[in-house]
Amino acid sequence: MAFEGLAERLQNTLQKIKGKGKVTEADVKEMMREVRFALIEADVNLKVVKEFVKKVSERAVGSDVMESLTPGQQVVKIVRDELAELMGGESEAMTFAKKPPTVIMMVGLQGAGKTTTTGKLANLIRKKYNRKPLLAAADVYRPAAIQQLETIGKQLSVPVFSLGTEASPVDIAKQAVEKAKEEHYDVVFIDTAGRLQIDEALMGELRDIHEAVAPDEVFLVVDAMTGQVAANVAETFDQQVGVTGIVLTKLDGDTRGGAALSIRSVTGKPVKFAGMGEKLDAIEPFHPERMASRILG
Ligand code: GDP
Repeated sequence: MAFEGLAERLQNTLQKIKGKGKVTEADVKEMMREVRFALIEADVNLKVVKEFVKKVSERAVGSDVMESLTPGQQVVKIVRDELAELMGGESEAMTFAKKPPTVIMMVGLQGAGKTTTTGKLANLIRKKYNRKPLLAAADVYRPAAIQQLETIGKQLSVPVFSLGTEASPVDIAKQAVEKAKEEHYDVVFIDTAGRLQIDEALMGELRDIHEAVAPDEVFLVVDAMTGQVAANVAETFDQQVGVTGIVLTKLDGDTRGGAALSIRSVTGKPVKFAGMGEKLDAIEPFHPERMASRILG
């Protein structure tokens, strides 16, 4: 289960302070020492951990908490609130362009789950928002990538626009948007190429596509299993291409929490969706408060 180790450690720590009728600064300090270790162990970015500990400590030793009737419970509530805050406030998961089609660029490293997520989002907007999606296969470097998107398209009965592997990704993206306009699709998802690592050629290509089609959203797909590395990857994509939202995948696995807890603070960009499995309906809007509750029980 996701966040298992972190959840267990934090819950044990908070249990000790929860029932206390009187909480001293030393109690808070001791608790925060344990919280700090738990977060580091879960692979949360160190700077994020430090800021979190500072914020919670300051709030927890305030007179309104210390002198209240249930200080232990108040401290636990502060940890919960700040944990949710760390993962971002509430955000609208999906925004559509005023004038269709909405153009969404899907970007990410190879293996992160980009193509699967493209299918999942197309399925979601059709089912939940009653919008008509078009998928565009702009990863021309791996023939298997185009086939994979076509297979997903078939499974969902969603059309896939492709020009094979000879055309340029920019042309594919442009023509897909043209087709969407002419044939009244609501949303075009452009599945761009991924690489195993960030490289300049890929970033240049993504910028070119961005310039050509001026997307309404750029969704970065990252694998939650990669921990705080996911936050660094996201920061680079954001600096180089410009990201509007993040999709965290593989939250159904035994991920420790480093990605979910670091990425918002490091990038300033909202996590909009959580991938919860390999099936094409295994995606949910990301709710920071629900995630915090999952961690703290
Ligand atoms: P891409 O290279 O980024 O396009 O990645 P793919 O879409 O091909 O996904 C890589 C692998 O991750 C595939 O085996 C997917 O089934 C799997 N995958 C994608 N999203 C999730 C998820 O949310 N949970 C799980 N368990 N597996 C996922």
